[in-house]
Amino acid sequence: MGAILLVEDDSGIQKMLSISLEAAGYELIKASSVKSGLVALSQNPISLILLDLGLPDGDGKTFIHEARIFSDIPIIVVSARDIESEKIEALEMGADDYLTKPFSIGELIARIKALTRRVRDKDESLHNEITIGKLTINFPNKTVSIDSKSIKLTKKEFELLALFAKNRGKVLTHTFVLENVWGRGYGNETHYLRVFMAQLRKKIEENPSIPQYIVTESGMGYRMNEPITNN
Ligand code: CA
Repeated sequence: MGAILLVEDDSGIQKMLSISLEAAGYELIKASSVKSGLVALSQNPISLILLDLGLPDGDGKTFIHEARIFSDIPIIVVSARDIESEKIEALEMGADDYLTKPFSIGELIARIKALTRRVRDKDESLHNEITIGKLTINFPNKTVSIDSKSIKLTKKEFELLALFAKNRGKVLTHTFVLENVWGRGYGNETHYLRVFMAQLRKKIEENPSIPQYIVTESGMGYRMNEPITNN
Protein backbone atom coordinates (compact mmCIF):
# COMPACT_ATOMS: atom_id res chain seq x y z
CA MET A 1 0.00 0.00 0.00
CA GLY A 2 1.22 3.49 -0.86
CA ALA A 3 1.27 6.41 1.55
CA ILE A 4 -1.61 8.57 2.75
CA LEU A 5 -1.36 12.13 1.48
CA LEU A 6 -2.53 14.62 4.10
CA VAL A 7 -3.40 18.03 2.68
CA GLU A 8 -3.99 20.21 5.73
CA ASP A 9 -2.67 23.64 6.73
CA ASP A 10 -3.52 23.51 10.44
CA SER A 11 -0.26 22.35 12.04
CA GLY A 12 -2.05 21.11 15.18
CA ILE A 13 -4.38 18.82 13.22
CA GLN A 14 -1.53 17.80 10.94
CA LYS A 15 0.53 16.75 13.95
CA MET A 16 -2.34 14.95 15.67
CA LEU A 17 -3.23 13.02 12.49
CA SER A 18 0.33 12.07 11.66
CA ILE A 19 0.98 10.74 15.17
CA SER A 20 -2.22 8.67 15.23
CA LEU A 21 -2.02 7.38 11.67
CA GLU A 22 1.66 6.51 11.87
CA ALA A 23 0.93 4.68 15.12
CA ALA A 24 -1.69 2.70 13.20
CA GLY A 25 0.96 1.71 10.66
CA TYR A 26 0.29 4.16 7.83
CA GLU A 27 2.98 6.10 6.06
CA LEU A 28 2.14 9.77 5.70
CA ILE A 29 3.11 12.45 3.21
CA LYS A 30 2.15 15.98 4.22
CA ALA A 31 1.23 19.02 2.19
CA SER A 32 -0.33 22.27 3.38
CA SER A 33 -1.70 23.89 0.23
CA VAL A 34 -3.66 22.99 -2.91
CA LYS A 35 -0.56 23.44 -5.04
CA SER A 36 1.89 21.45 -2.92
CA GLY A 37 -0.76 18.75 -2.47
CA LEU A 38 -1.11 18.29 -6.23
CA VAL A 39 2.66 18.19 -6.66
CA ALA A 40 2.96 15.55 -3.90
CA LEU A 41 0.16 13.52 -5.50
CA SER A 42 1.83 13.51 -8.90
CA GLN A 43 5.26 12.56 -7.53
CA ASN A 44 4.57 9.86 -4.93
CA PRO A 45 2.87 6.46 -4.72
CA ILE A 46 -0.26 7.58 -2.83
CA SER A 47 -3.13 5.25 -1.96
CA LEU A 48 -5.50 7.67 -0.24
CA ILE A 49 -5.88 11.42 0.33
CA LEU A 50 -7.13 13.22 3.44
CA LEU A 51 -8.15 16.70 2.41
CA ASP A 52 -8.99 19.87 4.32
CA LEU A 53 -11.24 22.32 2.46
CA GLY A 54 -9.93 25.63 3.78
CA LEU A 55 -6.41 25.88 2.40
CA PRO A 56 -4.24 29.02 2.18
CA ASP A 57 -4.03 29.12 -1.62
CA GLY A 58 -7.58 28.05 -2.42
CA ASP A 59 -10.50 25.77 -1.71
CA GLY A 60 -9.98 22.04 -1.26
CA LYS A 61 -12.68 21.55 -3.90
CA THR A 62 -10.21 22.97 -6.44
CA PHE A 63 -7.83 20.23 -5.35
CA ILE A 64 -10.52 17.56 -5.94
CA HIS A 65 -11.24 18.96 -9.38
CA GLU A 66 -7.57 19.08 -10.41
CA ALA A 67 -6.71 15.71 -8.85
CA ARG A 68 -9.59 13.94 -10.60
CA ILE A 69 -8.15 14.92 -13.99
CA PHE A 70 -5.27 12.48 -13.50
CA SER A 71 -6.05 10.34 -10.45
CA ASP A 72 -8.87 8.18 -9.11
CA ILE A 73 -7.30 7.62 -5.69
CA PRO A 74 -9.86 7.77 -2.84
CA ILE A 75 -10.29 11.22 -1.29
CA ILE A 76 -11.71 11.71 2.20
CA VAL A 77 -12.62 15.32 2.94
CA VAL A 78 -11.84 16.19 6.53
CA SER A 79 -13.43 19.54 7.24
CA ALA A 80 -14.90 21.73 9.95
CA ARG A 81 -17.57 22.79 7.45
CA ASP A 82 -20.74 20.94 8.33
CA ILE A 83 -22.86 22.36 5.53
CA GLU A 84 -25.05 19.97 3.56
CA SER A 85 -24.58 21.69 0.19
CA GLU A 86 -20.82 21.80 0.73
CA LYS A 87 -20.67 18.06 1.45
CA ILE A 88 -22.77 17.16 -1.59
CA GLU A 89 -20.69 19.44 -3.80
CA ALA A 90 -17.43 17.83 -2.64
CA LEU A 91 -18.86 14.33 -3.22
CA GLU A 92 -20.19 15.21 -6.64
CA MET A 93 -16.82 16.65 -7.63
CA GLY A 94 -15.30 13.25 -6.90
CA ALA A 95 -14.57 12.98 -3.18
CA ASP A 96 -15.33 9.52 -1.76
CA ASP A 97 -16.22 10.42 1.81
CA TYR A 98 -16.64 13.41 4.10
CA LEU A 99 -15.80 13.60 7.79
CA THR A 100 -16.68 16.63 9.87
CA LYS A 101 -14.20 17.85 12.48
CA PRO A 102 -14.00 16.93 15.29
CA PHE A 103 -14.05 13.19 14.59
CA SER A 104 -12.54 10.20 16.32
CA ILE A 105 -9.39 8.57 14.99
CA GLY A 106 -11.19 5.22 15.17
CA GLU A 107 -13.87 6.51 12.81
CA LEU A 108 -11.25 7.92 10.42
CA ILE A 109 -9.32 4.64 10.32
CA ALA A 110 -12.54 2.69 9.67
CA ARG A 111 -13.29 4.93 6.68
CA ILE A 112 -9.70 4.64 5.39
CA LYS A 113 -9.89 0.85 5.63
CA ALA A 114 -13.25 0.68 3.85
CA LEU A 115 -11.96 2.71 0.91
CA THR A 116 -8.56 1.07 0.56
CA ARG A 117 -10.22 -2.36 0.72
CA ARG A 118 -12.44 -1.47 -2.22
CA VAL A 119 -9.44 -0.34 -4.27
CA ARG A 120 -7.52 -3.49 -3.37
CA ASP A 121 -10.56 -5.59 -4.35
CA LYS A 122 -11.13 -3.69 -7.57
CA ASP A 123 -9.86 -6.53 -9.73
CA GLU A 124 -11.97 -8.96 -7.79
CA SER A 125 -15.08 -6.84 -8.36
CA LEU A 126 -14.54 -7.18 -12.11
CA HIS A 127 -15.14 -10.86 -11.55
CA ASN A 128 -18.54 -12.38 -11.23
CA GLU A 129 -19.11 -12.45 -7.53
CA ILE A 130 -18.29 -10.49 -4.40
CA THR A 131 -18.89 -11.25 -0.76
CA ILE A 132 -19.49 -8.50 1.78
CA GLY A 133 -20.05 -9.81 5.29
CA LYS A 134 -22.62 -12.59 4.97
CA LEU A 135 -23.87 -11.21 1.68
CA THR A 136 -22.81 -12.73 -1.65
CA ILE A 137 -23.70 -10.91 -4.85
CA ASN A 138 -23.41 -12.62 -8.22
CA PHE A 139 -23.44 -9.97 -10.96
CA PRO A 140 -24.00 -11.96 -14.17
CA ASN A 141 -26.73 -14.12 -12.60
CA LYS A 142 -28.16 -11.17 -10.67
CA THR A 143 -28.53 -13.31 -7.57
CA VAL A 144 -27.96 -12.50 -3.92
CA SER A 145 -27.57 -14.80 -0.96
CA ILE A 146 -27.14 -14.36 2.76
CA ASP A 147 -25.22 -17.11 4.53
CA SER A 148 -25.59 -19.15 1.28
CA LYS A 149 -29.38 -18.83 1.48
CA SER A 150 -30.68 -17.16 -1.64
CA ILE A 151 -32.89 -14.08 -1.32
CA LYS A 152 -35.24 -12.67 -3.91
CA LEU A 153 -34.72 -9.10 -5.07
CA THR A 154 -36.60 -7.16 -7.73
CA LYS A 155 -34.60 -5.88 -10.72
CA LYS A 156 -34.33 -2.36 -9.26
CA GLU A 157 -33.42 -3.62 -5.80
CA PHE A 158 -30.64 -5.69 -7.34
CA GLU A 159 -29.35 -2.73 -9.37
CA LEU A 160 -29.37 -0.62 -6.23
CA LEU A 161 -27.46 -3.21 -4.21
CA ALA A 162 -24.99 -3.82 -7.05
CA LEU A 163 -24.23 -0.09 -7.32
CA PHE A 164 -23.49 0.16 -3.59
CA ALA A 165 -21.45 -3.06 -3.60
CA LYS A 166 -19.27 -1.84 -6.46
CA ASN A 167 -18.70 1.46 -4.64
CA ARG A 168 -18.37 0.19 -1.10
CA GLY A 169 -16.71 2.51 1.37
CA LYS A 170 -17.74 5.47 -0.75
CA VAL A 171 -20.60 7.85 0.07
CA LEU A 172 -23.04 7.90 -2.85
CA THR A 173 -25.24 10.99 -3.06
CA HIS A 174 -29.00 10.65 -3.61
CA THR A 175 -28.64 12.21 -7.06
CA PHE A 176 -25.83 9.83 -8.04
CA VAL A 177 -27.82 6.76 -7.02
CA LEU A 178 -31.03 7.94 -8.68
CA GLU A 179 -29.32 8.79 -11.96
CA ASN A 180 -27.43 5.50 -12.03
CA VAL A 181 -30.34 3.23 -11.17
CA TRP A 182 -33.35 5.13 -12.55
CA GLY A 183 -31.61 7.24 -15.19
CA ARG A 184 -31.02 10.88 -16.04
CA GLY A 185 -33.88 13.15 -15.09
CA TYR A 186 -34.64 11.17 -11.93
CA GLY A 187 -31.99 12.91 -9.83
CA ASN A 188 -34.51 14.65 -7.57
CA GLU A 189 -36.91 11.76 -7.02
CA THR A 190 -35.60 11.07 -3.53
CA HIS A 191 -38.90 9.49 -2.45
CA TYR A 192 -38.26 6.59 -4.92
CA LEU A 193 -34.96 6.04 -3.30
CA ARG A 194 -36.37 6.07 0.23
CA VAL A 195 -39.03 3.52 -0.71
CA PHE A 196 -36.58 1.18 -2.45
CA MET A 197 -33.97 1.53 0.28
CA ALA A 198 -36.56 0.54 2.88
CA GLN A 199 -37.51 -2.53 0.79
CA LEU A 200 -33.91 -3.51 0.20
CA ARG A 201 -33.02 -3.13 3.86
CA LYS A 202 -35.92 -5.39 4.85
CA LYS A 203 -34.41 -8.09 2.67
CA ILE A 204 -30.71 -7.79 3.45
CA GLU A 205 -30.45 -6.34 6.96
CA GLU A 206 -30.87 -8.34 10.12
CA ASN A 207 -32.46 -5.30 11.72
CA PRO A 208 -33.62 -2.86 9.01
CA SER A 209 -33.92 0.02 11.49
CA ILE A 210 -30.24 -0.37 12.47
CA PRO A 211 -28.72 -1.14 9.06
CA GLN A 212 -25.24 -2.68 8.97
CA TYR A 213 -24.67 -3.03 5.23
CA ILE A 214 -25.93 0.23 3.74
CA VAL A 215 -25.85 3.08 6.22
CA THR A 216 -27.45 6.51 5.88
CA GLU A 217 -24.98 9.38 5.72
CA SER A 218 -27.07 12.23 7.00
CA GLY A 219 -27.36 15.12 4.56
CA MET A 220 -25.22 13.33 1.96
CA GLY A 221 -26.56 9.96 0.88
CA TYR A 222 -25.76 6.32 1.67
CA ARG A 223 -22.64 4.21 2.08
CA MET A 224 -22.10 0.48 1.93
CA ASN A 225 -19.91 -0.94 4.66
CA GLU A 226 -18.47 -4.29 5.42
CA PRO A 227 -20.33 -5.13 8.64
CA ILE A 228 -18.47 -6.40 11.64
CA THR A 229 -19.84 -9.88 12.19
CA ASN A 230 -19.41 -11.70 15.45
CA ASN A 231 -19.21 -15.37 14.65
CA1 CA B 1 -7.62 24.73 6.97
